Amino acid sequence: RAKENGRTRYEIFDAEMHQQAVNFLKMETELTRAIGSEQLEVHYQPIISISTGELRGMEALLRWKHPHQGLISPSFFIPIAEETGLINALSWWVLQTATKQLTRWHTLGEKYADLYVSINISARQFRRPELMTEILQSIQENHISPTHLCLEITESTLMQSPDNAATLFSRLKDIGIKIFMDDFGTGYSSLSYLQRFPVDAIKIDRSFISHIHQAGTGASSSSDTEIVRAIVTLVRNLGIYAIAEGIEQQNQLDLLKDIGCEFGQGFWFSKPLNADQTHEFICNYVFPSLGLESTHS
Ligand code: C2E
Ligand code: MG
Ligand code: MG
Ligand code: MG
Repeated sequence: RAKENGRTRYEIFDAEMHQQAVNFLKMETELTRAIGSEQLEVHYQPIISISTGELRGMEALLRWKHPHQGLISPSFFIPIAEETGLINALSWWVLQTATKQLTRWHTLGEKYADLYVSINISARQFRRPELMTEILQSIQENHISPTHLCLEITESTLMQSPDNAATLFSRLKDIGIKIFMDDFGTGYSSLSYLQRFPVDAIKIDRSFISHIHQAGTGASSSSDTEIVRAIVTLVRNLGIYAIAEGIEQQNQLDLLKDIGCEFGQGFWFSKPLNADQTHEFICNYVFPSLGLESTHS
């Protein structure tokens, strides 16, 4: 009987594996078709100075509107793109699309001439020798300054092959490209890597921001508040900016302002917007108009 169970289990496992492989292939085919079609869009989320209210930049976030399955999260399809090699075509397209948009935003007015665009680069993309060439090409073709292009990479990207990463890192810095460390606080290495890789900013992961509480509003100050405070203080002493991800509430914003976190991003300011909405957002944006005044002193 044990044997029978074993075999049954094996067959179920086998069937699941088969189904997974079929789904994977299907996704690969569909994603291939999606590249260069209307199904893919880059959306943009504003990054704002918490102290002045000034709009500083936009993070490019890829969207896949699947014809049958609706909106599919990049957290789901980027790994598929990576495993199949489709990421190369995809990342080139994102880079070109986002830098083209940046050029348009810059024409909207003098006060937007210094706006930057920030692009997510996965570990596998960061290892590709062609990355540098592609970046240089889109900078040239779209006539943008390298100082208006930021790349968001995670700690684990730098950890996977630190020596190669160091070479590319310094080449990118040399030409003036900014580098942000994404999802800061969720990786393993945090502190020592900031010395080895002097990034321009760290993005404090949303998981910390969503748990911070406003002292004096009834909610007790959580340990996450103290972690955020420590991160902000530490990176400031290293000459690195902090960007808080996932700000959803006024009290989070107030607290971050008190802590002295320089930049923020999140639904409280705006959800990621499509190209038209982004254009509109920029045109209508007035600062400081964010109700950023802290309600306590
Ligand atoms: P990420 O770079 O950490 O991006 C932040 C994610 O948080 C985005 O999810 C954004 O929509 C979401 N978010 C922003 N503000 C808030 C908020 O206030 N509340 C909540 N609940 N969420 C917020 P999204 O767009 O689903 O992207 C997920 C991840 O997919 C990104 O995480 C990034 O790692 C990856 N990704 C997105 N676009 C690209 C791309 O073009 N290339 C690569 N390699 N990865 C990408
Ligand atoms: Mg990011
Ligand atoms: Mg992030
Ligand atoms: Mg993330």
